[in-house]
Amino acid sequence: MTGSEQLGEFAIIDLFRREFPESAPGLALGIGDDASIIDLGGGQVLAVSCDMLVEGVHFELAGTSAADLGYKSLAVNLSDLAAMGAEPLLAWLMLALPEHTPGRFIEEFKRGLVECARNYRVVLAGGDTCASPQGLTLGLTVAGRGRAGRLVTRSGGRSGNVVLLGGPVGAAAAGLALLQGRVTLAGGEARAARRALLRPRPQVELGRLLADRGRARAMIDVSDGVLQDLGHICRASGCGAVIDAEQVPLATAATSCARQLDCDAVEFALSGGEDYLLLFCLAAEDVEATRRLVRRELACEIHPIGRLDDGPGVRLRQGGRTRRPAAGGYQHFHSGRKGRD
Ligand code: ADP
Ligand code: MG
Repeated sequence: MTGSEQLGEFAIIDLFRREFPESAPGLALGIGDDASIIDLGGGQVLAVSCDMLVEGVHFELAGTSAADLGYKSLAVNLSDLAAMGAEPLLAWLMLALPEHTPGRFIEEFKRGLVECARNYRVVLAGGDTCASPQGLTLGLTVAGRGRAGRLVTRSGGRSGNVVLLGGPVGAAAAGLALLQGRVTLAGGEARAARRALLRPRPQVELGRLLADRGRARAMIDVSDGVLQDLGHICRASGCGAVIDAEQVPLATAATSCARQLDCDAVEFALSGGEDYLLLFCLAAEDVEATRRLVRRELACEIHPIGRLDDGPGVRLRQGGRTRRPAAGGYQHFHSGRKGRD
């Protein structure tokens, strides 16, 4: 590497990760998963995660209300706790605000954040507030509890496991396309797409059920697109994966968008980020029992979309052919699309 070479997001994270052990006194799991796991003793652990939302990178003030921003900034962090199967408890809020930010904006932001906190029974425990010379930056740290040995990491997947999704994908990508004026959608579809993008629903209950009783082997939340996030599970678990395009549950708005954008609906949905659904792996023999458990306890469906295997990376089986999908997912410091972390 030369001094002037630019590093990608994951290379930067690795730079730090290499300097520290994966576990240490009090730390059961360090850098590399959706959350760190802190050992509290007595069979209890705390999962801790933090995420930033930066104006111009994750959101444009013109495209989102302050209340939606407040709601989403907490919701996306809770999604990382959901991905471990932890029960959210606490949050800390970091605010870097441009001078002259109107009080009304902050009040509205607070209203959205509080609404999300109440929905998920999370208490704000602290934070930090300062001025920003340019743009709004928000940081949230969240903590949730779980039982030692029961939280689900990205690394427990094995060849032969079935890969499943917590719901239909592509609604948030449709919402983004709509907001950017690249597509038009009819009333109900437009509302669902906008809502998926602006008011994501972290699958906290599903995550806890899968961790406690559903025997999930590996789990992640879909923040950067299924292709990329399944790639994280594959790398951490030391395997590959094949997604069966015909099994992928698509949000109806994603199908409408793909038609208008003249692209493949499955790739549109799998590469779009911000759905905040859970993506997880089960041993093949656990799939039916877990489907029944989720139906019974949460009245919702989980969807098998493929399998882990020994092959390289994530591949897509479509129309009798298996290939590497063209689209990737979002990464910082790779110019082009905007998305989130
Ligand atoms: P997610 O999309 O689930 O929020 P990220 O892709 O942001 O996860 O981060 C991947 C992992 O890298 C996480 O374990 C996170 O804590 C860690 N990480 C990210 N940035 C840094 C950093 N600057 N220093 C240390 N660890 C980091
Ligand atoms: Mg995550």
